Amino acid sequence: MHTTNRKTFADTFYSRQIAMKELGINGQRRLSEAKVAIVGIGGLGTVSSLYLALAGVGHLRLIDQDTVETQNLHRQILYTAEDTNYPKAEIAAQRLTKLNPLIKAEPASENLNAANAEQLLADADCVVDGLDNMLTRYLINRTCAKLGIPYVFGAAIGIEGNLSVFNPPKTPCLECVLPNLPDNELMKCNTRGVLGATPGIIGAMQAMETVKLLTNIGKPLKNKLMVCDFSDMTFTTIDIAKRSGCPTCQGTAALPKPSEKLVWLCGRNTANVNPEKPLNLNLAEIHATVKQNFAVRLKSHLAVIFEYDGLEVSLFNGGRMLIKNVQSEQEALKAYREILEKLKVS
Ligand SMILES: [Zn+2]
Repeated sequence: MHTTNRKTFADTFYSRQIAMKELGINGQRRLSEAKVAIVGIGGLGTVSSLYLALAGVGHLRLIDQDTVETQNLHRQILYTAEDTNYPKAEIAAQRLTKLNPLIKAEPASENLNAANAEQLLADADCVVDGLDNMLTRYLINRTCAKLGIPYVFGAAIGIEGNLSVFNPPKTPCLECVLPNLPDNELMKCNTRGVLGATPGIIGAMQAMETVKLLTNIGKPLKNKLMVCDFSDMTFTTIDIAKRSGCPTCQGTAALPKPSEKLVWLCGRNTANVNPEKPLNLNLAEIHATVKQNFAVRLKSHLAVIFEYDGLEVSLFNGGRMLIKNVQSEQEALKAYREILEKLKVS
């Protein structure tokens, strides 16, 4: 877009928002100068990123390790059936820049872990939670606390949801309120089920809290946890306090070792395998070798998806693999090593 056209388009695009006396032209400028990282672009993240993009947050970093799957389309509103098997971060970035060409949407098709969390989150003004597991939430919580970045927490399942804004040392953190929740005891979307509107509402509220934080509008949900029961529309806001002995707030929390997350089965018979050491693996360069060795289903900018021995493999730039239809971590690791061998990468 030409600079003059762009200015006219922006003035009109944001006019109903700038008309708000709470926001005005200065608030709009703050949004356009802001950088927000959204971790998990699923039911929550597709909605929060949509409203943040439309609000004009200048730079969105979309972090998601996964690919688009049919059973998630009913709630992950940025994807269509045609996007199945493509990396979610990549499709989300394309769609958001189409919806608002004034912003930058940066896809990060990464598995957020202790080795890369600081690098992916450090320059963000705010981090938005679009996750479905506590392990990664605790990692975000500790990283945000260390870096002093506000963390907009959200969770949604079935017909219930939670919301809060953590920004220690001024507020309690996630581990003050919900410490040591093991993921295997948590309800999952595949067993408990989820209505699309549940993450829709929570994700929209996360976008609201993020816009408020970035522009100093109103009072964000700090020192409070909102518990929503949509079955009878009960919205309860509980005061929360720092927990004595919280390792994050005391600064004694250790980040998990990167190697502990080499393979992670995220349910649904899917394993994510991070390279043990950084691989100099460039998809464009090895695409021909992949085609020679495997039945390639599709190739996108950030990944190539192929079949190997009954498994569905998504190979990402840098060497990360998402392996579907596996029964165990051992099986995933074995397949990972065999594939690298066939590709002559080590
Ligand atoms: Zn704490």
